[in-house]
Amino acid sequence: MDLQALQREIYQNKVRRGFNVTDVGKEIVFMMEELGELARAYKQSNRLPVAEINCRVEMVDEVGDLLVYCLGLCEMLDVNAEEVLVEIVERNQTRTRDGGS
Ligand SMILES: [Mg+2]
Repeated sequence: MDLQALQREIYQNKVRRGFNVTDVGKEIVFMMEELGELARAYKQSNRLPVAEINCRVEMVDEVGDLLVYCLGLCEMLDVNAEEVLVEIVERNQTRTRDGGS
């Protein structure tokens, strides 16, 4: 399944389950909650550099939740997540450290 198929499936799952697909603000709040869960998982870890960090499973789970929300929001906004990612990755390749391009 490619990224666009995944974003469509995430959106359809939200529709099937009666979850929000119209209010962008609600999605942003849910994403912030997931970011908070990621931060909590990190806070509960040993906070060592990534090669030695524990709580990896918990952190990856929260990253996954964030990805699901990002893909669902792309579908809500009617944009192709892969195109968005490709454009930003290409932009970042020439971006300077101060944020300019
Ligand atoms: Mg979560």
